[in-house]
Amino acid sequence: MKIKRFILTLLLIISTTGMISPELEEGMYPLSEIQKVDLVKAGLKITPKDIYDPEGISLIDALVKVGGCTGSFVSDQGLIITNHHCAFRAINMASSPENNHLENGFLAADKSNEIPARGYKCRITESYEDVSDIILDAVEGVDDLAERKKLISRKMSELGEKYSDKENSIEAQVSEMFAGQSYVLFKYRIIEDVRLVYAPPRAIGEFGGESDNWIWPRHTGDFTFMRAYVAPDGSSAPYAEDNVPFKPKKYLKVNPNGVEEGDFVFILGYPGRTYRHQPSQFLEWQYNYMLPYVSELYEWMIDLIEDVSSGDEAMQLKYASTIKGYANTMKNYKGKIKGIRTIQLIEKKQSEEELLKQFVYNNKELNDKYGMLFDEIENVSQNQFKIAEALLWFNRFPRVSGLMNVGDFLVRSAIEKEKPDEERSFSFRDANIESAKRRVEGSFELLNEDVEFNVLVKMFEDALGFDESNRITAIDEIFNDDEFDIEGYVEYLLLNTKLKNKDEFEKLFELTYSELLETSDPLIKLILMLNVQDERLEHEVNRIEGAFSRLMPQLAEVKRIYNNTSFIPDANGTLRLTYGYVKGYTPADAVYYSPISSLNGVIEKSYMEGDYTLPEKVYELYNQKDFGQFYNKKLGSVPVSILYNLDTTGGNSGSPILNAYGELIGVNFDRAYEATINDYAWNESYSRSIGVDIRYVLWITQKLGGADYILTELGI
Ligand code: GLU
Repeated sequence: MKIKRFILTLLLIISTTGMISPELEEGMYPLSEIQKVDLVKAGLKITPKDIYDPEGISLIDALVKVGGCTGSFVSDQGLIITNHHCAFRAINMASSPENNHLENGFLAADKSNEIPARGYKCRITESYEDVSDIILDAVEGVDDLAERKKLISRKMSELGEKYSDKENSIEAQVSEMFAGQSYVLFKYRIIEDVRLVYAPPRAIGEFGGESDNWIWPRHTGDFTFMRAYVAPDGSSAPYAEDNVPFKPKKYLKVNPNGVEEGDFVFILGYPGRTYRHQPSQFLEWQYNYMLPYVSELYEWMIDLIEDVSSGDEAMQLKYASTIKGYANTMKNYKGKIKGIRTIQLIEKKQSEEELLKQFVYNNKELNDKYGMLFDEIENVSQNQFKIAEALLWFNRFPRVSGLMNVGDFLVRSAIEKEKPDEERSFSFRDANIESAKRRVEGSFELLNEDVEFNVLVKMFEDALGFDESNRITAIDEIFNDDEFDIEGYVEYLLLNTKLKNKDEFEKLFELTYSELLETSDPLIKLILMLNVQDERLEHEVNRIEGAFSRLMPQLAEVKRIYNNTSFIPDANGTLRLTYGYVKGYTPADAVYYSPISSLNGVIEKSYMEGDYTLPEKVYELYNQKDFGQFYNKKLGSVPVSILYNLDTTGGNSGSPILNAYGELIGVNFDRAYEATINDYAWNESYSRSIGVDIRYVLWITQKLGGADYILTELGI
């Protein structure tokens, strides 16, 4: 069976590219696994120790986590390269209609003109240590599932706090590698002062917009340069004028010659979440509930905001990041829905599980131990499906309504503040609450009454349509009569709530829970009512997750015995390596996509205008054939984006793409549409990731941006 698949894959590879590259398996290898992969055989020309060396300095020391993405140091002056979409929020916040860096691009004339990237921090992985025993000891003999889940989370935060060392800017965090089974303590160096150095105009950094997002062929210059700063004594400090550029232990060498089709490449980065070890029921949850609910809600939000902001440039600019975020998730989720359906992923997973089941049932010893496992997973999942609508409604409401976001935070913090610090949820601990509050306060900048009005009406109407097991009791109580005027009620809420006002929020934040209960503010009253059910649901979710954390290690063990092999843990936001080749693919019958796009394609697309509008200067440079050293003879143009069969996901945005010598030849920023289901299942035939070619980065930076000093700093 495996041999047959191998031959088929091989035939596909030969027939589509005319060349043979080794068959790849999925793989986001954690640091602890890198030494186990034969990277040299795969094409690496340096030693694996050059990539990761716990005793010395290696490539991973040049990696940073920034803005929810990955970045890498590319000079000894703390210069970072990441994606334009990762720096988008910072560029957006630094822009105004008069000084629109988002549209026009931004270049700091010199270091003193770099703009602080508000809310951005860098994290550098310093070390890691297996702490599974300590975590699991904490739940030894605990049978109550919700309690198990709580204790595990508590122990994880406790260890994180214990090993954090604020004075030395070290933040420790425990990450779950396999649910209920293995846990690793990571220590991160934190840098709090991050600034914008060069961002291309949006028409380059986001060329193709939502039309091309998650699509190949791609022609986007999705990159931005930022810089990390520390206090003069080298410690981490928030923005201050006398801060100095951070000197990283290691920075990447940029290779301006780029890559060719078939070349070996690897990526280091911080992939966010994958779900490959989950059972088929998890996919059912995603396919039937989560993906359609969220993608439809976000699509509705985009239409609403576009409608409300039509003709209002300032509002459009203010909401640019929000819309981009909704649109990105929406398209990703639609890609996932299509992918799951097209390759019949749920059915495939179910058949695999059927084989596993028979394997267990036919072996007395396994049957005694795991005979109930599959039924238990099914039961827990059915409980989750039953309350899916209510769960999703509660979970997404604060993400689409700024008022619900601040109100929810207010009520939760009042409740949490009554508990001893160590029993509170992570964000509400004394050490974290101020930064959590600042994040929530960001909602005030975006509050718009028209948007809020429409969102509240929609969410209430939705809730009233839920089935028996998903009723939102507070909404039922308020709207107990069919004739109730929802719009009138929402108008009344908006007119009378103090939550619209940041100063009032500050005052309310000082109140205790019982004082909050006394308030006459109708929106706070409603949120208090909703919270009662939300807490019940949270308890139910803890029970479900607690059950999974007991069942998942068993499922993994059964799979390990059946396949006689061990697995790589799902992505969890920790540092990983993935490797492969620059390589095209066949997305549909009779279609082959080659793996390197060029400036010719950018120009071609630009005639479609809209998402493809280009700055005039690009035409001038193109017409003058001013390609500098970045022209590629084979393509007859400047290379723009590259495609490769590496295993990446969200969070890998901004990751350096490195050649066989560990030199930077591109920056990862996306996946092909078919590869949006990587998160559930990676497959060589359809999993392709997309990066911006370093030659385009350098060409744009030099010729369009006029930022020669950056090229000099990069050693070009
Ligand atoms: N472009 C992706 C995003 O914005 C990130 C990279 C990926 O998911 O492959 O979420």
